[in-house]
Amino acid sequence: MAAKSLDGKACAENVEANLKERISSLKSKGVNPHLVVIIVGEDPASKIYVGAKERACERLGIVSTRHSLSANASEIELRDLLSKLNADDAVHGILVQSPLPDDLDELSLTDMIDPNKDVDGFHPVNLGRLVQGRMDGHLPCTPAGVMRMLEWANVDLTGKRAVVIGRSRIVGMPLSLMLAAKGSNATVSIVHSRTENIESHCQQADVLIAAVGVAGLVKNNWVKNGAVVIDVGVNRVEDTSRERGWSLAGDVDPDVSEVASILSPVPGGVGPMTIAMLMSNTVNAAEKLSR
Ligand code: NAP
Repeated sequence: MAAKSLDGKACAENVEANLKERISSLKSKGVNPHLVVIIVGEDPASKIYVGAKERACERLGIVSTRHSLSANASEIELRDLLSKLNADDAVHGILVQSPLPDDLDELSLTDMIDPNKDVDGFHPVNLGRLVQGRMDGHLPCTPAGVMRMLEWANVDLTGKRAVVIGRSRIVGMPLSLMLAAKGSNATVSIVHSRTENIESHCQQADVLIAAVGVAGLVKNNWVKNGAVVIDVGVNRVEDTSRERGWSLAGDVDPDVSEVASILSPVPGGVGPMTIAMLMSNTVNAAEKLSR
Protein backbone atom coordinates (compact mmCIF):
# COMPACT_ATOMS: atom_id res chain seq x y z
CA MET A 1 0.00 0.00 0.00
CA ALA A 2 1.30 3.47 -0.86
CA ALA A 3 2.45 5.66 2.04
CA LYS A 4 0.12 8.31 3.36
CA SER A 5 1.23 11.68 2.02
CA LEU A 6 1.99 14.15 4.82
CA ASP A 7 0.36 17.31 3.51
CA GLY A 8 2.53 20.22 4.65
CA LYS A 9 0.22 22.74 3.02
CA ALA A 10 -2.76 21.63 5.11
CA CYS A 11 -0.62 21.57 8.26
CA ALA A 12 0.67 25.08 7.46
CA GLU A 13 -2.92 26.31 6.98
CA ASN A 14 -3.71 24.96 10.44
CA VAL A 15 -0.73 26.85 11.93
CA GLU A 16 -1.75 30.04 10.11
CA ALA A 17 -5.37 29.77 11.27
CA ASN A 18 -4.18 29.72 14.90
CA LEU A 19 -1.90 32.69 14.29
CA LYS A 20 -4.71 34.86 12.90
CA GLU A 21 -6.41 35.16 16.32
CA ARG A 22 -3.15 36.12 18.01
CA ILE A 23 -2.42 38.69 15.31
CA SER A 24 -5.83 40.34 15.72
CA SER A 25 -5.34 40.40 19.49
CA LEU A 26 -1.97 42.17 18.98
CA LYS A 27 -3.55 44.65 16.58
CA SER A 28 -6.33 45.44 19.04
CA LYS A 29 -3.54 46.57 21.41
CA GLY A 30 -1.98 48.74 18.70
CA VAL A 31 0.84 46.29 17.86
CA ASN A 32 1.35 45.51 14.16
CA PRO A 33 3.60 42.45 13.80
CA HIS A 34 6.36 43.44 11.37
CA LEU A 35 8.90 41.24 9.58
CA VAL A 36 11.88 42.75 7.76
CA VAL A 37 13.71 40.69 5.15
CA ILE A 38 17.13 41.70 3.84
CA ILE A 39 18.14 40.27 0.50
CA VAL A 40 21.58 40.85 -1.01
CA GLY A 41 22.22 40.29 -4.72
CA GLU A 42 20.10 38.76 -7.45
CA ASP A 43 19.91 35.04 -6.61
CA PRO A 44 16.67 33.92 -8.36
CA ALA A 45 15.85 31.17 -5.82
CA SER A 46 16.25 33.66 -2.93
CA LYS A 47 13.84 36.02 -4.64
CA ILE A 48 11.27 33.21 -4.95
CA TYR A 49 11.65 32.33 -1.23
CA VAL A 50 11.38 35.96 -0.15
CA GLY A 51 8.28 36.40 -2.34
CA ALA A 52 6.64 33.38 -0.68
CA LYS A 53 7.41 34.81 2.79
CA GLU A 54 5.90 38.16 1.79
CA ARG A 55 2.75 36.50 0.48
CA ALA A 56 2.35 34.64 3.79
CA CYS A 57 2.70 37.96 5.68
CA GLU A 58 0.04 39.47 3.43
CA ARG A 59 -2.36 36.53 4.02
CA LEU A 60 -1.99 36.95 7.78
CA GLY A 61 -1.91 40.75 8.03
CA ILE A 62 1.75 40.84 9.13
CA VAL A 63 3.57 43.94 7.87
CA SER A 64 6.54 42.99 5.70
CA THR A 65 9.38 45.18 4.48
CA ARG A 66 12.02 44.10 2.00
CA HIS A 67 15.48 45.71 1.90
CA SER A 68 17.15 44.75 -1.40
CA LEU A 69 20.88 45.45 -1.41
CA SER A 70 23.17 45.13 -4.42
CA ALA A 71 25.49 42.12 -4.67
CA ASN A 72 28.48 44.36 -3.87
CA ALA A 73 26.95 45.78 -0.69
CA SER A 74 29.61 46.06 2.03
CA GLU A 75 29.51 44.35 5.40
CA ILE A 76 29.50 47.81 7.04
CA GLU A 77 26.35 48.72 5.09
CA LEU A 78 24.63 45.57 6.34
CA ARG A 79 25.79 46.10 9.90
CA ASP A 80 24.44 49.67 9.86
CA LEU A 81 21.09 48.44 8.57
CA LEU A 82 20.92 45.67 11.20
CA SER A 83 21.73 48.15 13.99
CA LYS A 84 18.90 50.41 12.85
CA LEU A 85 16.43 47.53 12.64
CA ASN A 86 17.49 46.22 16.08
CA ALA A 87 16.75 49.66 17.54
CA ASP A 88 13.42 50.12 15.73
CA ASP A 89 10.54 49.28 18.11
CA ALA A 90 8.16 48.87 15.16
CA VAL A 91 10.23 45.92 13.84
CA HIS A 92 9.69 42.52 15.48
CA GLY A 93 11.43 40.08 13.14
CA ILE A 94 14.64 40.41 11.10
CA LEU A 95 15.79 37.88 8.55
CA VAL A 96 18.86 37.98 6.31
CA GLN A 97 18.09 35.77 3.31
CA SER A 98 20.70 33.09 2.71
CA PRO A 99 22.94 32.66 0.75
CA LEU A 100 24.90 35.90 0.99
CA PRO A 101 27.64 36.77 -1.53
CA ASP A 102 30.94 35.04 -0.63
CA ASP A 103 32.65 38.18 0.68
CA LEU A 104 30.02 38.68 3.41
CA ASP A 105 30.35 36.78 6.69
CA GLU A 106 26.90 35.27 7.23
CA LEU A 107 27.66 34.01 10.74
CA SER A 108 29.00 37.29 12.10
CA LEU A 109 26.04 39.16 10.60
CA THR A 110 23.64 36.70 12.26
CA ASP A 111 25.45 37.35 15.56
CA MET A 112 24.46 41.02 15.23
CA ILE A 113 20.70 40.46 15.10
CA ASP A 114 18.87 41.05 18.38
CA PRO A 115 18.10 37.45 19.51
CA ASN A 116 14.52 38.51 20.30
CA LYS A 117 14.11 39.55 16.64
CA ASP A 118 16.05 36.58 15.19
CA VAL A 119 13.00 34.88 13.68
CA ASP A 120 15.19 32.49 11.65
CA GLY A 121 16.39 31.08 14.99
CA PHE A 122 20.06 30.99 13.90
CA HIS A 123 21.52 33.37 16.51
CA PRO A 124 23.86 31.58 18.96
CA VAL A 125 21.61 32.63 21.85
CA ASN A 126 18.63 30.88 20.27
CA LEU A 127 20.60 27.82 19.16
CA GLY A 128 22.24 27.76 22.61
CA ARG A 129 18.85 27.66 24.30
CA LEU A 130 17.94 24.72 22.09
CA VAL A 131 21.11 22.89 23.16
CA GLN A 132 20.09 23.53 26.78
CA GLY A 133 16.76 21.84 26.04
CA ARG A 134 14.82 25.10 26.34
CA MET A 135 12.08 25.72 23.80
CA ASP A 136 11.49 29.35 24.83
CA GLY A 137 13.77 30.93 22.20
CA HIS A 138 13.12 31.22 18.47
CA LEU A 139 13.50 27.75 16.97
CA PRO A 140 14.92 27.39 13.43
CA CYS A 141 11.94 27.34 11.06
CA THR A 142 12.56 24.22 8.96
CA PRO A 143 13.31 21.85 11.88
CA ALA A 144 10.43 23.36 13.88
CA GLY A 145 8.19 22.81 10.85
CA VAL A 146 9.22 19.15 10.64
CA MET A 147 8.46 18.66 14.34
CA ARG A 148 5.04 20.30 13.94
CA MET A 149 4.25 18.06 10.94
CA LEU A 150 5.14 14.94 12.94
CA GLU A 151 2.94 16.09 15.81
CA TRP A 152 0.10 16.91 13.39
CA ALA A 153 0.36 13.40 11.92
CA ASN A 154 0.22 11.94 15.48
CA VAL A 155 3.64 10.35 15.19
CA ASP A 156 4.71 9.38 18.70
CA LEU A 157 8.49 9.74 18.83
CA THR A 158 9.05 8.38 22.34
CA GLY A 159 11.56 5.56 22.25
CA LYS A 160 11.60 5.58 18.44
CA ARG A 161 14.81 5.43 16.48
CA ALA A 162 15.20 8.57 14.35
CA VAL A 163 17.89 8.98 11.72
CA VAL A 164 18.65 12.43 10.32
CA ILE A 165 20.66 12.60 7.11
CA GLY A 166 22.54 15.92 7.13
CA ARG A 167 24.22 17.89 9.92
CA SER A 168 23.78 21.50 8.78
CA ARG A 169 23.38 24.44 11.16
CA ILE A 170 20.09 25.25 9.44
CA VAL A 171 18.34 21.87 9.34
CA GLY A 172 20.06 18.63 10.37
CA MET A 173 21.79 19.62 13.62
CA PRO A 174 18.94 21.61 15.24
CA LEU A 175 16.41 19.02 14.10
CA SER A 176 18.44 16.24 15.74
CA LEU A 177 18.40 18.23 19.01
CA MET A 178 14.63 18.74 18.79
CA LEU A 179 13.99 15.04 18.12
CA ALA A 180 16.15 14.00 21.09
CA ALA A 181 14.83 16.71 23.47
CA LYS A 182 12.80 15.77 26.52
CA GLY A 183 9.19 15.67 25.42
CA SER A 184 10.06 14.30 21.97
CA ASN A 185 12.23 11.49 23.33
CA ALA A 186 13.50 9.93 20.11
CA THR A 187 16.84 8.11 20.00
CA VAL A 188 18.69 10.00 17.29
CA SER A 189 21.51 9.19 14.88
CA ILE A 190 22.96 11.83 12.58
CA VAL A 191 24.53 10.67 9.33
CA HIS A 192 26.38 12.77 6.75
CA SER A 193 28.69 12.69 3.76
CA ARG A 194 31.47 10.93 5.73
CA THR A 195 29.24 8.21 7.19
CA GLU A 196 30.18 4.72 6.05
CA ASN A 197 27.45 2.43 4.81
CA ILE A 198 24.79 5.08 5.24
CA GLU A 199 21.93 2.84 4.13
CA SER A 200 22.48 0.42 7.02
CA HIS A 201 21.86 3.30 9.47
CA CYS A 202 18.78 4.43 7.57
CA GLN A 203 17.37 0.90 7.52
CA GLN A 204 17.18 1.03 11.36
CA ALA A 205 15.05 4.18 11.39
CA ASP A 206 11.44 4.32 12.55
CA VAL A 207 11.57 7.96 11.51
CA LEU A 208 13.92 8.92 8.68
CA ILE A 209 14.56 12.55 7.79
CA ALA A 210 16.54 13.54 4.71
CA ALA A 211 18.07 17.04 4.63
CA VAL A 212 20.85 16.62 2.12
CA GLY A 213 20.37 18.37 -1.21
CA VAL A 214 20.87 15.29 -3.44
CA ALA A 215 17.82 14.41 -5.53
CA GLY A 216 16.52 10.88 -4.97
CA LEU A 217 19.41 9.86 -2.66
CA VAL A 218 17.21 7.79 -0.34
CA LYS A 219 16.11 4.61 -2.13
CA ASN A 220 13.33 2.28 -1.07
CA ASN A 221 15.79 -0.40 0.07
CA TRP A 222 17.19 2.14 2.58
CA VAL A 223 13.84 2.35 4.34
CA LYS A 224 12.33 0.02 6.94
CA ASN A 225 8.83 -1.22 6.26
CA GLY A 226 6.30 1.17 7.79
CA ALA A 227 8.84 3.93 8.58
CA VAL A 228 7.84 7.59 8.66
CA VAL A 229 9.92 9.49 6.08
CA ILE A 230 10.26 13.27 5.96
CA ASP A 231 11.86 14.78 2.88
CA VAL A 232 13.39 18.20 3.50
CA GLY A 233 15.40 18.32 0.27
CA VAL A 234 14.57 20.76 -2.49
CA ASN A 235 16.48 20.06 -5.69
CA ARG A 236 16.05 21.35 -9.21
CA VAL A 237 16.11 18.47 -11.69
CA GLU A 238 15.92 18.54 -15.47
CA ASP A 239 12.37 17.90 -16.69
CA THR A 240 11.78 18.13 -20.41
CA SER A 241 8.03 17.56 -19.96
CA ARG A 242 7.84 21.05 -18.46
CA GLU A 243 8.06 24.18 -20.56
CA ARG A 244 10.58 25.66 -18.09
CA GLY A 245 12.75 22.54 -18.46
CA TRP A 246 13.02 21.65 -14.75
CA SER A 247 10.98 20.57 -11.79
CA LEU A 248 11.54 20.21 -8.06
CA ALA A 249 12.52 16.90 -6.48
CA GLY A 250 13.24 15.87 -2.92
CA ASP A 251 16.11 13.84 -1.49
CA VAL A 252 13.83 10.80 -1.30
CA ASP A 253 13.13 8.61 -4.32
CA PRO A 254 9.34 8.51 -4.94
CA ASP A 255 9.51 4.67 -4.83
CA VAL A 256 10.00 4.96 -1.06
CA SER A 257 6.24 5.41 -0.96
CA GLU A 258 6.00 1.61 -1.49
CA VAL A 259 7.62 0.86 1.90
CA ALA A 260 7.06 3.92 4.12
CA SER A 261 3.85 4.39 6.13
CA ILE A 262 4.00 8.18 5.86
CA LEU A 263 6.01 10.27 3.37
CA SER A 264 6.14 14.05 3.01
CA PRO A 265 5.96 15.21 -0.60
CA VAL A 266 8.22 17.69 -2.43
CA PRO A 267 6.88 20.23 -3.20
CA GLY A 268 4.02 20.66 -0.70
CA GLY A 269 5.65 19.08 2.38
CA VAL A 270 8.25 20.78 4.54
CA GLY A 271 8.44 23.94 2.37
CA PRO A 272 5.05 25.46 3.40
CA MET A 273 5.78 24.51 7.02
CA THR A 274 9.06 26.46 7.01
CA ILE A 275 7.17 29.59 6.07
CA ALA A 276 4.39 28.93 8.59
CA MET A 277 6.98 28.61 11.37
CA LEU A 278 8.60 31.88 10.28
CA MET A 279 5.20 33.54 10.65
CA SER A 280 4.82 31.87 14.04
CA ASN A 281 8.24 33.14 15.21
CA THR A 282 7.33 36.66 14.03
CA VAL A 283 4.10 36.61 16.04
CA ASN A 284 5.95 35.20 19.09
CA ALA A 285 8.50 38.03 18.73
CA ALA A 286 5.79 40.70 18.46
CA GLU A 287 4.06 39.34 21.58
CA LYS A 288 7.31 39.15 23.56
CA LEU A 289 8.63 42.56 22.50
CA SER A 290 5.32 44.35 23.17
CA ARG A 291 4.87 42.99 26.69
P1 NAP B 1 23.70 21.76 3.52
O1 NAP B 1 24.09 22.84 4.45
O2 NAP B 1 24.37 21.66 2.20
O3 NAP B 1 23.90 20.37 4.30
C1 NAP B 1 23.72 19.17 3.64
C2 NAP B 1 24.10 18.03 4.57
O4 NAP B 1 23.96 16.82 3.84
C3 NAP B 1 25.54 18.09 5.07
O5 NAP B 1 25.58 17.74 6.43
C4 NAP B 1 26.26 17.06 4.21
O6 NAP B 1 27.31 16.37 4.87
C5 NAP B 1 25.16 16.06 3.95
N1 NAP B 1 25.38 15.33 2.71
C6 NAP B 1 25.70 15.83 1.49
N2 NAP B 1 25.80 14.83 0.58
C7 NAP B 1 25.55 13.68 1.25
C8 NAP B 1 25.50 12.31 0.87
N3 NAP B 1 25.73 11.93 -0.39
N4 NAP B 1 25.20 11.42 1.81
C9 NAP B 1 24.96 11.79 3.09
N5 NAP B 1 24.98 13.07 3.50
C10 NAP B 1 25.29 14.00 2.60
O7 NAP B 1 22.14 21.78 3.21
P2 NAP B 1 20.89 22.25 4.13
O8 NAP B 1 20.85 23.72 4.20
O9 NAP B 1 20.87 21.46 5.38
O10 NAP B 1 19.71 21.77 3.18
C11 NAP B 1 19.52 20.42 2.86
C12 NAP B 1 18.41 20.29 1.82
O11 NAP B 1 17.23 20.81 2.39
C13 NAP B 1 18.65 21.10 0.55
O12 NAP B 1 18.07 20.42 -0.54
C14 NAP B 1 17.88 22.38 0.80
O13 NAP B 1 17.44 23.00 -0.39
C15 NAP B 1 16.71 21.84 1.57
N6 NAP B 1 16.05 22.82 2.45
C16 NAP B 1 14.71 22.88 2.36
C17 NAP B 1 14.03 23.77 3.16
C18 NAP B 1 12.56 23.82 3.05
O14 NAP B 1 11.95 24.74 3.58
N7 NAP B 1 11.92 22.84 2.42
C19 NAP B 1 14.73 24.59 4.04
C20 NAP B 1 16.10 24.47 4.14
C21 NAP B 1 16.77 23.57 3.33
P3 NAP B 1 28.65 17.11 5.34
O15 NAP B 1 28.27 17.89 6.56
O16 NAP B 1 29.57 16.00 5.62
O17 NAP B 1 29.07 18.01 4.20
